[in-house]
Amino acid sequence: MSHLDQDKEVKDNAVPGADKMTMAMTEMFMRESDGHPPVIFALASGLSRAAIAVMRLSGVGSGRIVESLCGRLPAPRRASLRGLWRRDGAEPVLLDRALVLWFPGPDSYTGEDSAELHLHAGPAVINAVADTLVALGARPAEPGEFSRRAFTHGRMDLMQAEGIADLIDAETEAQRRQALAQVDGAQSRLYQQWADRLRVLLAHQEALIDFPDEELPPEVEQRLVDGLQELHATMQASLLEGAGAERLRRGLVFAIVGAPNVGKSSLLNALAGRDAAIVSPRAGTTRDAIETRIVLGDVPVTLVDTAGLRDTDDEIEAEGVRRSLFHVKQADCVVHVFTGSQAPPRLEGDGLLVCNKIDLHDAPEGAIGISVLTHAGMDVLRDVLAAHARALTAGQAQAPFTRARHRAAIEETVHHIGRALGMDWPEMRGEEMRLAMRALGRLTGAVDVEALLDTVFGQFCIGK
Ligand code: GDP
Repeated sequence: MSHLDQDKEVKDNAVPGADKMTMAMTEMFMRESDGHPPVIFALASGLSRAAIAVMRLSGVGSGRIVESLCGRLPAPRRASLRGLWRRDGAEPVLLDRALVLWFPGPDSYTGEDSAELHLHAGPAVINAVADTLVALGARPAEPGEFSRRAFTHGRMDLMQAEGIADLIDAETEAQRRQALAQVDGAQSRLYQQWADRLRVLLAHQEALIDFPDEELPPEVEQRLVDGLQELHATMQASLLEGAGAERLRRGLVFAIVGAPNVGKSSLLNALAGRDAAIVSPRAGTTRDAIETRIVLGDVPVTLVDTAGLRDTDDEIEAEGVRRSLFHVKQADCVVHVFTGSQAPPRLEGDGLLVCNKIDLHDAPEGAIGISVLTHAGMDVLRDVLAAHARALTAGQAQAPFTRARHRAAIEETVHHIGRALGMDWPEMRGEEMRLAMRALGRLTGAVDVEALLDTVFGQFCIGK
C-alpha cells in the first residue's frame, strides 16, 4: 500500500486550471527572488530504488513554487496530500499525487522558506517534478548546499554542519553516537567556553595596553598569565584526547604484512568473510595491496593485504613491496603474519604478531597462534583486533574534535597562546591572543569581533 492510500485524512484540494501558472507569474517569481539566492531543490532521499522519494526545496520563492505545483500552500509543518501539476502548457498536466510539507522560514532546516514533496519514487515522476521545478525558476542544489544555507542563516555552526555530514556517513554505532553529539553541539559548547575564557583574558590584556598608567590592580597581569597558561594546558591536553575520535570518524587502517606464502591473503579473506584476495601457494601472487572494509569492535577498519615483503627481481612485485611499505607506514596497526617454521619478525611500533598455520607448527611465545585453514585461534584473533580497534579510537565521551581541520585549528590556537605567553610586550601579546581567538573562531565559523568589544567595554567600563 502506498503512503497515498494510507493517508486518507489529508485532503487533496488541488484544482487544475483555476490558477494557471502563466509566464507572467514566472516572471513575477523571478523578480521577487531578485537579490536572494535562488530556490534550490534536491532529492533528500537519494537515488536508490524506494517507495517514496523526498524532494526538498529551499529559498525565498519556495512558497510560490509550491503554490504553482499544488494550489494553495498546506498549513505549516502539516502533511497534506496534493496533486502536483505542471501548468505552463495548454493543459495542466498531473505529475503525481504526493504528500506536501511546508516549512516557512526561519523555523526550517535551512532557515529559509522550505518544502518537502514526498513523491512516488519512480524515475519518471522524479524527472517530471524536477523539470517543472526548473521551469518555475528553481535550480538543482550543489552538494551540501542546504546545510550551507543553514549555516549562513545561523541555524547551525560549522562543527554541527560537519556533524551532520558525519552522521550521514556513520557506518557503526560508535560513529553514529559521536556524530550525533557533534550535531547536538558538544564541541561547539566546549569551544565557546574556550573562546569566552580567551575573550576575558584579552579584555584584561586590552586594559593593560590602553591604560598602562591608570590604577589597574597589579595582579591583573599575573591573573592574565595564569589564565593563559591554564587554557594552553587544557587545549594541549585536548589534542591528545581527540586523536581517538578523529580516528573513529575516518575509520582505521590495519595492514597485514609478512613474507610470501605465510597466509596473509587467506587471513584477509577469513576476516572479511569473502574472497577479496587471491590465495595461492605461489609466492608473490599479491602484487598490489588489496583493501577490504570490515567492522571490528564497532569501528570501520580497512584491512590492507600487502604484497609479501621479500627481495625480488620481478619489477612489478618490487613495486608491490614498495607499496606495502608505504601502507605499513600509514597503517594504524600492523598485523605481522609468519609461520611457526620461521623466526618471528621483529615488532616495530604498534603491531600484532600472528603466527599462522599452527596446524603444521606451534606458535612461539608472545604470538597469537592461528590456523586460517582449521579456524583455530581465529576467534581470539578477532577479539584482539577488535580490542585494538576500540583502544585506538577510545577517547572521552565528549570528543574535543573529530577532524584534521579541528585539530589544525586547535593546534594553531595553542601555538598563538604559547607565543603570547612568551611575549613581554603587551601589544605583541595582545596580537598573539587575537590570532588565537581568530583560529578558535574558525572552528565554529564564528569569528566575532563585536563580542570582544562588548567584553572589553563591559568589564572595564572604558567607554563611559
Ligand atoms: P600470502 O602469500 O601470505 O598471501 O599467502 P596465501 O594466503 O596466498 O596462502 C599461501 C598458501 O598457504 C595457500 O596455499 C593457502 O591455502 C595456505 N594456507 C593459508 N593458511 C593456512 C593454514 O592455516 N594452514 C595451512 N596448512 N595452510 C594455509
